[in-house]
Amino acid sequence: SFHKSKGQHILKNPLLVDTIVQKSGIKSTDVILEIGPGTGNLTKKLLEVGKMVIAVELDPRMVLELQRRFQGTPFSNRLKVIQGDVLKCDLPYFDICVANIPYQISSPLTFKLLAHRPAFRCAVIMFQREFAMRLVAQPGDNLYCRLSVNTQLLARVSHLLKVGKNNFRPPPKVDSSVVRIEPRKPLPPVSFKEWDGLIRLCFNRKNKTLGSIFRQKSVLSLLEKNYKTLQALQLSQKGLLENTEMALDVSVLGDTIEDDSSKEIDNGGDDDEMEVEDGDAAVEGSNFKDMILGVLKQGDFEEKRSSKLTQVDFLYLLSLFNKAGIHFS
Ligand code: SAM
Repeated sequence: SFHKSKGQHILKNPLLVDTIVQKSGIKSTDVILEIGPGTGNLTKKLLEVGKMVIAVELDPRMVLELQRRFQGTPFSNRLKVIQGDVLKCDLPYFDICVANIPYQISSPLTFKLLAHRPAFRCAVIMFQREFAMRLVAQPGDNLYCRLSVNTQLLARVSHLLKVGKNNFRPPPKVDSSVVRIEPRKPLPPVSFKEWDGLIRLCFNRKNKTLGSIFRQKSVLSLLEKNYKTLQALQLSQKGLLENTEMALDVSVLGDTIEDDSSKEIDNGGDDDEMEVEDGDAAVEGSNFKDMILGVLKQGDFEEKRSSKLTQVDFLYLLSLFNKAGIHFS
């Protein structure tokens, strides 16, 4: 019997398995990472074309079944099974990842893979259809969201194949899609923490103008806090920080990118806060707000909406903010 909680839906259509393997472009020298091999239908085909398969499987019963299946065959010394949770274990070196995963780990797994070093060549993964469409969504598409922008910063993503639910046993409730993910080499020279901080704010309400997003009290006070912390640090360190700022910090990528619907900022109204002006030279209160809006105006972003902005737009926006000393992490 299968465990629903472990997302156990076994691929039962051998033609589909062949197509996935074919589209993966596996070379005979490749070390392949498979996640959630289950009973090994995909594993067998991977062993036929690659040099070695490393399979990570959570369920000990499945691990046993897998070992039994390949025991005494020429495949057995080219298959390594790791029993455990793929999100918790250290991943080994691999050239390519091919997997039919449990859908509940889609987001953290994607970012764990993208943070893995050395970067792999590509990953070909079965996702729930809607998740797949969000991964590949472009500006103006309905499903364009924080997940799309963050993934596409780090990788080229393309939709390979639609897969109906009846290709699985037992059939899941939702349709699926196979997606190809190719890590960008080199990565754009931004701090991922900074990038994600900006994107998180911008997609909190993706159909609002940036002008209205950055007028929110909660957003302004968050940014002002960052600004002041950094100024204090810079005063004490005399600009030492600037030299380390640009390196991409991949250590944060392992953090789960939460669903876009999770609201971190309370959106308690756009109305302006009463500012206490103390006449000091420091940028404070409404001065700070003017500074933020000035940055938006400078790049002609005030009337723009995140749902229509490209990665290049966001990179430009982030660089304008950073140049003005505004930071998002
Ligand atoms: N690859 C097989 C196939 O296509 O027929 C089975 C795919 S099934 C959708 C997902 C598999 O992932 C199950 O065997 C399940 O036990 C395993 N699994 C679930 N959570 C996991 C985790 N956190 N780490 C590793 N494997 C996991």
